[in-house]
Amino acid sequence: MKLVFATGNSGKLREASEILGEGFVLVSLAEAGITEDIPETGNTLSANSLLKAQYLYNRVGCDCFADDTGLEVDALGGAPGVHTARYAGEDKDFNRNMDKVLQELQIRECERNMAASLGLKVKPVSRRARFKSVITLIINGETHMFEGTLEGVIAREKSGNGGFGYDPIFIADEYPGQTLADITEDQKNAISHRGKALRAMAEWLRSQN
Ligand code: IMP
Repeated sequence: MKLVFATGNSGKLREASEILGEGFVLVSLAEAGITEDIPETGNTLSANSLLKAQYLYNRVGCDCFADDTGLEVDALGGAPGVHTARYAGEDKDFNRNMDKVLQELQIRECERNMAASLGLKVKPVSRRARFKSVITLIINGETHMFEGTLEGVIAREKSGNGGFGYDPIFIADEYPGQTLADITEDQKNAISHRGKALRAMAEWLRSQN
């Protein structure tokens, strides 16, 4: 079965091919002749994943899927959430995005410490966070959605050279003391939000045959 994947990222394409396994051929946006940016104007990850898949389906008319991922930090009220890629600006700079998360948490801690020193009863600032991925698959014109979540905490500082995005500041519950950028790609793929959503989609597709 041939599926167009709404990505230009070769790492994502390879990961999805490995998870889907034999019987599936994945086609990238470039291979499908799509060079323009796909609009991501929704207010939620699900809305953006759906928008991207629908855009792709309308352009190519083939079975296809799109994913959208966000980081939710509890102490920041769920931010950056749907703004994860552009948290610190339109240039999608990973380092500035991570710095902004660390700075915002520091501000919350500073405010909490001042309140505590005034004698107020205040809880420590939680660094709990999660990545969420939503995949929308359009097959035979029908839409199906799959989700994956990775729970963890935001580190105090960046660590590691692997991965991408916010990996250097995210410590998954499965690997305490190491960020996602410290562990191997295989270790990350086995627990990741995107891996879980892709495996859920693969399982569903296999169950249809
Ligand atoms: P996208 O929806 O896959 O393009 O992801 C949106 C943004 O989330 C990316 O630009 C990254 O900053 C971040 N992101 C997505 N997946 C990961 C991940 O596995 N690790 C770290 N950051 C990620």
